[in-house]
Amino acid sequence: MQVAQIIVDVPTRQTNNAYSYSIPDHLVDQIEPGMRVQVPFGNRKITGFVVGISDESSYDGKLKPIASLVDLSPVINPELLDLASWLADQTYSFQISCLQTMLPGGMRTKNKKKLIAQNSQVIDQFPEIFHGQQEIDYNRQQYDNATLSKILAGQKNGDIQVEYDLTNHARPIMLKAYQGNLNAKQVDEVRQTVRKNAVGQLKLLSLIKQQPDTVFLVSDLASKGITSSTLKNAEAKGWVVAKLKRHIRNPFMRPAKKSQPLQLNADQQAAVSSIDEAIAAQKDQVFLLEGVTGSGKTEVYLQSIAHALSLGRTALMLVPEITLTPQIVGRIRSRFGDQVAMLHSAMSSGERYDEWQRINTGKAKVVVGVRSAIFAPLQNIGLIIMDEEHDSSYKQADNPRYQTRDVAKWRAAYNHCPVVLGSATPSLESRARAMKGVYELLSLPHRINRQALPHVSIIDMKIEMAKHHEALSTQLKDAIQVRLDKHEQIILLLNRRGYSAFLMCRDCGYVPRCPNCDISLTMHKDTHTLNCHYCGHTEPIPTVCPQCHSKRIGFYGMGSQQLEEQVKNLFPTARVLRMDVDTTRKKGAHEAIIDQFGAHKADILLGTQMIAKGLDFPEVTLVGVLNADSALQFPDFRSSERTFELLTQVSGRSGRADKSGEVIIQTFNPDHYAIRLAKTQDYEKFYATEMRIRHDGKYPPYYFTVKLTGNSASENQTVSEMFGILNFLKKQLSSNAIILGPTPKVITRINNQYYYQIIIKYRKEPNLKAALDDILVQSQKKQRRGIQIAIDNEPLDF
Ligand code: ADP
Ligand code: ZN
Ligand code: ZN
Repeated sequence: MQVAQIIVDVPTRQTNNAYSYSIPDHLVDQIEPGMRVQVPFGNRKITGFVVGISDESSYDGKLKPIASLVDLSPVINPELLDLASWLADQTYSFQISCLQTMLPGGMRTKNKKKLIAQNSQVIDQFPEIFHGQQEIDYNRQQYDNATLSKILAGQKNGDIQVEYDLTNHARPIMLKAYQGNLNAKQVDEVRQTVRKNAVGQLKLLSLIKQQPDTVFLVSDLASKGITSSTLKNAEAKGWVVAKLKRHIRNPFMRPAKKSQPLQLNADQQAAVSSIDEAIAAQKDQVFLLEGVTGSGKTEVYLQSIAHALSLGRTALMLVPEITLTPQIVGRIRSRFGDQVAMLHSAMSSGERYDEWQRINTGKAKVVVGVRSAIFAPLQNIGLIIMDEEHDSSYKQADNPRYQTRDVAKWRAAYNHCPVVLGSATPSLESRARAMKGVYELLSLPHRINRQALPHVSIIDMKIEMAKHHEALSTQLKDAIQVRLDKHEQIILLLNRRGYSAFLMCRDCGYVPRCPNCDISLTMHKDTHTLNCHYCGHTEPIPTVCPQCHSKRIGFYGMGSQQLEEQVKNLFPTARVLRMDVDTTRKKGAHEAIIDQFGAHKADILLGTQMIAKGLDFPEVTLVGVLNADSALQFPDFRSSERTFELLTQVSGRSGRADKSGEVIIQTFNPDHYAIRLAKTQDYEKFYATEMRIRHDGKYPPYYFTVKLTGNSASENQTVSEMFGILNFLKKQLSSNAIILGPTPKVITRINNQYYYQIIIKYRKEPNLKAALDDILVQSQKKQRRGIQIAIDNEPLDF
């Protein structure tokens, strides 16, 4: 008797252990670990992942049988199955969530009906349509209605293209029709059709006459006014022949230009040699590649990837955000062409699915992507790269709350390959590990061509504001004018966090707040609404104060929209581009802005954090930071690190080519060490200063940390629950552990739920894991009473 071990889609602690189901005889030959199946569970049917198959001799007949297969081949490979179980343990999450996280978005649904209807799935659910071929003749009469509707669904979501061939079959009749050489019956037939369906038929006929040897897509024909019913008719008459084509979506906006490896400088060469050696020796060594902005880290990545490929291995490269991907992906494709697959959130789910398939079937050898690409089903990995390793987007905020670095190290150990963590401003964690010798430090201390780092000046906005109330200081305005006169480019960074426009009554001080959250509403000019960035609540902008009925209700602070207006007013001839969440929502919008600015079709690029990182524009010689302090205002132990990183990153955008660069930082805290040290871009000094502060405050990397967050609809209930947990932890942990809280979260109420948290700091607590597991099991029971507990192992902030 064959038995399958299955992780069922019921998120509880118990179901982290696999359940056993018997495999019915007709499925024995088809079923493999990593496939999804439907199984009976209680009185319903649910989806589960097969994680193992065993021979059970002592079968006692009590096991329920698997109902049916969801997949025809495994969607999770053996490596990722192992990883999921480790990840669940590591992040205190459910194994089912980990397995789901590994699949591309479009494949994550629970319901089999939906799965089949699922856009990107049609083709692979129904291999009988294509029988493994990419292209087949399409003869409607051959198919039953069910298959026809699958084909239709496939067409709708872009899996299948239907093409009409206007060649052989059609021509004889058509030529005859037009030459008047038809016999009476044929003439009659053409007349009949033309009468019935005159416009479309005539259009089709003339098209066949004009372009007799052409193949058209249905969509092309539709745009010429030839409908599918006309085509169906013509098809039945044998005028045209239809073909079905498997369509692989191409997420790349443009073809790759070819590029050749550059001659490395000595520092780059030393880094590449060390990495190559580890790849060849199959060592799961972690390297920290520390290189100032513009020092040529990307070239080191590219040549190391080439080395891995030359040894028959594959490579995985992670970048923090999609903003970075157009430029980086362009560079990678310029070396490795169609072997490159890309995975990021701005792709459609169909594109992601197709790219995922190219990876899963081994067609793609190099994967570039954001955080979730760490789960790409790439096999035989020879190198894993994490660019901008310090970036906060590498930590997932929701379940499973994983740190990508840890997953990268796990996969490196499994695949026997090195990991390269690259950054101009490494996280303190990584740098501290490099100092201890756990990671090997590789450094690129100079910019390529020894171009000096840009000159940075700090403007004290307290003094500026006393003179005039404007967002741009006199110095920044003057500097912009100088650069505009020289026909050079400018980047302006407005860190929106905590600095967006909000409404306030000048008479009574009233500020509209979200009814569901403890936060003021943000003004959105394009939609003429006040929005809550936490729960999505929107309301119209009031023209009189609801509290005192004054008409003097107006805007404070500034968002990127207002900045754009101001800049355009100040510099009416300058061409200005804005990049923020609002201007980049549409697919391809990022690329379009980057292309335009890169081609110098604009003079000023202004935007939020999005523009701070990674971008490489040689004509940019001035970077202005409008509000350097916004991160500092957050009560978070990492706020200095974030500020230093951001300022260093954005400064690195200036003066990258032969012209020297300038940076102007506006701040209300000119004496803060993070800002002073960003002026000299002195990472070493920042590291030393910050490490002392972390040491004294007992923060990471000196201490490990765990954050427990509880939320419920009642503040009292949340507080008393968290005190219960506090007491439990005090009993379970040693007196060396530091347990802080419970304290309300910075924004205590979100969507009418009250959030409180407990922080544990520790160096060594052998009982911690068991205690936290216990809290989770207990919280499962309490969830029914409306209280939820989340555990975040090594949280990014608190
Ligand atoms: P980083 O990733 O460290 O910010 P990049 O890899 O983007 O730096 O390099 C900065 C610029 O220098 C790029 O335009 C790149 O093409 C160029 N570059 C890098 N390495 C070399 C080299 N060895 N010789 C010449 N130019 C190089
Ligand atoms: Zn008022
Ligand atoms: Zn809200």
